[in-house]
Amino acid sequence: MKQRYKRVNLSSLGFFRSLRKDNHQFAVIGLGRFGRAVCSTLHRLGYEVLATDIDEKNVNQVMSEHIAAHAVQLDSTDSVALKEAGIYEFDTVIVAIGNYIQESIITTLNLKEGGVPHIVAKASSGVHCKLLHRVGADHVVFPEYEAGCELARSLTKPAILDRFDLDPDNSIVEVIVPDEFHGKTIGDLQIRNRYGLNLLAVSQDGKFEINPDPRKRLEKGSAMVVIGCNRDINRLPI
Ligand code: ATP
Repeated sequence: MKQRYKRVNLSSLGFFRSLRKDNHQFAVIGLGRFGRAVCSTLHRLGYEVLATDIDEKNVNQVMSEHIAAHAVQLDSTDSVALKEAGIYEFDTVIVAIGNYIQESIITTLNLKEGGVPHIVAKASSGVHCKLLHRVGADHVVFPEYEAGCELARSLTKPAILDRFDLDPDNSIVEVIVPDEFHGKTIGDLQIRNRYGLNLLAVSQDGKFEINPDPRKRLEKGSAMVVIGCNRDINRLPI
């Protein structure tokens, strides 16, 4: 089964819920590897993207690779340049400047003061993360840290396919059915009594059966979705 491990934190949900469904325009500031990946994915998904960078070379590269509808060279620490380029009119702006902390902070502050409703910023350290929140970023991503945590988790718990963190102590996880559960019915397994977990669904080949019948037998190669506290999830024989 293909591993696809992603963490979603409920604290980010407010931000994602606030994104307007009809928003089809995004501006990306900073066209390093991260910024270009954001541009090309949005572009491929059919959204209109304005890509900007202080370095003309990066702007030209984005245009020649056709990974954004528009690209402009500008210094995002200059609030007049941002205004003239119409960046303040965008609903969502992504600040993809990781290494230049001062530039990233000033840019985020400019966007906040310019009235951009949704500002997403990339951090390169814990302190950078805090500063971005302080100057008004609505959502901060820290890709190197997050990827490192995910790798460690997936190396130590490869059976966990997907995870939704409800809070630091409780989660909903999709896990590969443990070998010792193979052939047993959900009723026999008494997952709630033995592990304190509630079984929400079983899945086979990406299809989910919600609230499965207790007489259903679990099989190797399929997966199950449980909700409970992390301590109990860790007690599963996976
Ligand atoms: P990568 O995404 O490649 O890992 P990164 O996110 O750490 O790198 P940086 O090296 O911080 O990226 O820079 C990303 C881009 O931001 C660079 O292309 C850089 O030219 C651009 N950039 C830096 N300062 C400014 C600025 N003041 N205005 C606009 N763009 C800028």
